[in-house]
Formats: sequence, C-alpha cells, structure tokens
Amino acid sequence: NSDLILYVNLELVNKKSDRRYVIKEMLGQGTFGQVAKCWDGETNSYVAVKVIKNQPAFYQQAIMEVSLLSMLNEKYDPDDQHHIVRMLDFFLYQNHLCIAFEMLGHNLYELLKRNSLRGLQLKYVRTFSRQILDALVVMKDAGIIHCDLKPENILITPNVKTAAGVKVIDFGSACLEGKTIYSYIQSRYYRSPEVLLGYPYTTAIDMWSFGCIVAELYIGLPLFPGASEYDVLCRMIEILGGQPPDDLLREAKNTGRFFKQVGSIYPGIEMQNGPISAYRILTEEEIETRESKKPKVGRWYFPRGRLDKLIYTYPWKNLNGENLPETEKTDRLALVDFLRGLVEFDPNKRWSP
Ligand code: ATP
Ligand code: MG
Ligand code: MG
Repeated sequence: NSDLILYVNLELVNKKSDRRYVIKEMLGQGTFGQVAKCWDGETNSYVAVKVIKNQPAFYQQAIMEVSLLSMLNEKYDPDDQHHIVRMLDFFLYQNHLCIAFEMLGHNLYELLKRNSLRGLQLKYVRTFSRQILDALVVMKDAGIIHCDLKPENILITPNVKTAAGVKVIDFGSACLEGKTIYSYIQSRYYRSPEVLLGYPYTTAIDMWSFGCIVAELYIGLPLFPGASEYDVLCRMIEILGGQPPDDLLREAKNTGRFFKQVGSIYPGIEMQNGPISAYRILTEEEIETRESKKPKVGRWYFPRGRLDKLIYTYPWKNLNGENLPETEKTDRLALVDFLRGLVEFDPNKRWSP
C-alpha cells in the first residue's frame, strides 16, 4: 500500500546496533507475542518492547501495526497530544519483529481489578472517556479502525504530575477504513453488532467498543459479557431493550446464525398485528440444535437489567435513587444518555467521536 510504505522503511530495521535493549521484566502477553520492560542503553530510559511471534501472519500484522502507528504518531499527532502510545523504534532480532514503545503504566483492566471490580468514580470515567475520545477523533481523521479497543488496550500514563491520564495502545489488529480484510475482529465482549452479524464495518465499531468500556469503567464489570457470540447478543438485547434494526439484519451475512425470520422482510409491508420486526432472536434451545458443539454455558447473573437501571440504581454504587444529591442524579442520567449514543445498534445512528 503506497500510503503506508512511506512510513516503514524496512532497510532501517537491520541497522540497529545489537544489545541496545536489556530485558528487565515481562509486562504482558497477548495473542501477538510478549511485551517486556527493557532498559534502553542508548537513551538511558525504560521502554516497553513487544516481541512478535516469528510466524508470517503475525509478522505481516505487526508490520501493519508499525505502519499505522507511525502514520498516527508522525502525521496526525506530532506533538503527542492525543493519547495514543508513542512508538520509539522497531527492529528484527533473531527473526522476531520487535517494536519499542514508550513505557506506560497498568492497563485499565488491571486498574478495575485492583478496585475489586467495583468501578471507578465518575470523575475518572469522565477524564478517561474524554482522552480516549480524543484518540478516536485522530484515528477517525486518519481513517484508521483500531478493531480491538478494550480495557487491556488502554494504559494509564505514569508519572504525570498533573491529572490522571490514559493512552490507547495495541494497533496490532488495526486496519484502514475501506481496506477491511478480516471479519473475525474485536474481543468478544466489545464486539460490535455489525461485526457479530457480518455486516460491512467502519470506524463506528470502535465507538461501540468505547461505549462498552465507559460502562465497564463505571460499573466495574463488562457490560455485555458472554461465553459465546449468541450470549453476547442476548445480553445486548436484554440491556438495550431492543434488537438490531431490520435493515441491518436483512443485509448481514450471519443473521441466520442468531435470528429466525418471522415476518415480511420488505420494509413498510407489515401484516396487521404482525411482528414489529421480521426477525426474532433464536431461543437457547434453537441455538443448541444449530450449534450442537457449543458447550452449555452458565448464565451470567450479575449485573442484570436495563442500561438505565444498571447505571442509575447500580447497587454497588451505593445508590438508592432518592437519597442521591441532585448533581449525582443528573450526572448518572447524563451517563445513561451518553452510553445510549454509543451502544446504538445502528452504526449510522451511533455517535461519532
Ligand atoms: P492482544 O492479545 O490484545 O492483541 P497484543 O499481543 O497485541 O495483545 P499488546 O496489547 O500490545 O499485545 O500488549 C500486551 C500487554 O502488555 C498490554 O495489555 C499491557 O498490559 C502490556 N503493555 C503493552 N504495551 C505497553 C507499554 N507501552 N507500557 C507498559 N505496558 C505495556
Ligand atoms: Mg492487546
Ligand atoms: Mg493486539
């Protein structure tokens, strides 16, 4: 891709001096490889080095990560103002592509765990949301879809004397809008309806994941957890009190895996007293006969209920509606409204960053 070649000069890759980075400890492990905290002997500072598995598919995707991130860093965010991780270097080492990043702190999932999964105060939810949105605006301008936005891929920025901050990391699944190759993307809990259903996707899928993250930061647990895609879809329908619009269901490739057609698929032509939608979600029994290999999954029993109930009367937030100060009530209602714009089934109606 000619746009991207500009940003990856592979000749540079082999010119790096050997023994520049010394591994101190392991920071994390993902699908693509391992991330190590390293001492950089040239700049005398710590960096995070992602060592990519030495298999062609991972290598190719990591080249994409390097390309898209250098484009974002250099062209769209030269002054490091938009909460996107900085890439410092990349090189080949013993046939592994390695990418050096600025050293950041814990990821948001670790932060939630430390907080016993009880969620963060609204002021932090607000600050982090604003910063992630700032990154999403830049990514949208650059035509880049992250494709794997989740709490593990948002890191706390350490040592900032001012306020708490976050940065978006892991462009290892990212792609350019209009060059969407893969259909199996996004981590399950954060997977958008259009990806679940097999419908052409845009940067709007990151806004869905973002909505899931904002809710999770507040309530402390994933909004749409599920052991299967069907379970996740059922959770969405339960929490949002509706289902994807018929237009989407009619066009999507995987609709038949989750829905049964029960009415006319022609818009505007409805039978009297007929169903409002031409589709209904399959029952668990129907799913089981269709996907007989699927293991029987235990029900997720908490949190349950509609979105407004979850946010407004969330028991762990110590909230018994009436006793709340007015400002807190207003803020929670505003959060529900905000989330409604994000976890919107219809990608065209979903809010942009
Ligand atoms: P995934 O399975 O999500 O695709 P991945 O293999 O692409 O993961 P990353 O998400 O880039 O790898 O990194 C894995 C983990 O390593 C992160 O969740 C984070 O905890 C840690 N990590 C990554 N980059 C940094 C960094 N710059 N500073 C500190 N920790 C980091
Ligand atoms: Mg990751
Ligand atoms: Mg990744």
